[in-house]
Amino acid sequence: MPTFEYLYKEGHEQVVYFADSSCNLKVIIAIHNTTLGPALGGTRMWPYASEEDALEDVLRLSKGMTYKAAVSGLNLGGGKAVIIGNPEVDKSEALFRSYGRFIESLNGRYITAEDVNIGVEDIEHIFTETNYVSGVAKTHGGSGNPSPFTALGVFRGIEASCLKTYGDKSLNGKSVVIQGAGSVGCHLGKLLNEAGAKVFVCDINESHLKRFVEEYNTSAEIINPNDVYDMDVDIYAPCALGATINDDTIDRLKVKIVAGAANNQLKETRHGDILREKGILYAPDYLINAGGLMNVSIEFEGWSEDKAHRMVNTIYDTTLKIFKLSEEQNIAVNMATDILAENRIKSIKGIKGKYLGDQRHRFPGRKNRARV
Ligand code: NAD
Repeated sequence: MPTFEYLYKEGHEQVVYFADSSCNLKVIIAIHNTTLGPALGGTRMWPYASEEDALEDVLRLSKGMTYKAAVSGLNLGGGKAVIIGNPEVDKSEALFRSYGRFIESLNGRYITAEDVNIGVEDIEHIFTETNYVSGVAKTHGGSGNPSPFTALGVFRGIEASCLKTYGDKSLNGKSVVIQGAGSVGCHLGKLLNEAGAKVFVCDINESHLKRFVEEYNTSAEIINPNDVYDMDVDIYAPCALGATINDDTIDRLKVKIVAGAANNQLKETRHGDILREKGILYAPDYLINAGGLMNVSIEFEGWSEDKAHRMVNTIYDTTLKIFKLSEEQNIAVNMATDILAENRIKSIKGIKGKYLGDQRHRFPGRKNRARV
């Protein structure tokens, strides 16, 4: 079980447990860092084997959100929540409404959204009890499904990677293998097709593959999931699981670029160095998959598709900036991304020590004070 020493080391501000036996709610919210703004991050529902596993997951994920928001230029901090339970049997209106009430009690320090096993209908129940929720349905003034925006950001990241590798951002004539024909993979497949790329795709779910080739990219070629690392193509786009760049796969890669939506694609930090030594350009995963986060982040100021596109398109320039930093400092791309994120948090923390904001409410003047 992580201790206060662990929280000091990793920099988490707050970890909150909420329990409601009336609806079987067991949830842990971790707020990692709120220097840049309120902590925004989705809620995951999972039948964790133990409470320790759930805690470990939420601590790791919340820290990731701090870095993602920071490098993406968002005025948000990092947080995440995990509900311990089986999504097939434990979901109920009461559970999500109870959870919404707990979120409300944090007074906006944490804002939730969808994550694994949490859909828009669950968000609606949370929204009944609190405003501190994003990813709300478009019909209720929200931004709806974030996946098309995530896919667009990944596509921009791929374009930046092509510019760096081939001197031209165009995808025309390039070959890409997409691992995972899910929500993001499908939209990415469509964008790549429109840009003239040859797409190969794999999935372990036949119906997802069928949807991919019938609705999103009719010229895509389906491959066996076991062959994905051996493909002789330009780009590998991981859009399924994390940690697919590991000791077993890294020497099989023949691609020039790794750029996809999956979180934590590198099993260990050192795999970023190995990719670099092998001359494979790695696009920073938590930046290029931040389109969905960018999209939900503007829900509070009034969402518009135009605004969302403008934000997501910035991923292209930020990716190039990170490649430049990686080259200048002679470090792997994943290290350069962390540096950029940490520098932004540090610099904004710096300015907060200068002007303390409006203090008039604390010093209202003589008329409010009793004479002694
Ligand atoms: P999804 O669940 O819709 O799709 C994932 C797909 O991967 C599924 O079709 C699944 O069958 C397939 N898959 C699982 N194991 C596989 C394997 N071994 N080989 C091939 N395919 C396999 O998820 P998604 O929303 O499309 O997200 C994809 C990835 O991107 C995830 O890692 C997610 O965490 C990350 N991500 C998603 C978003 C978003 O907006 N949806 C945002 C940021 C990051």
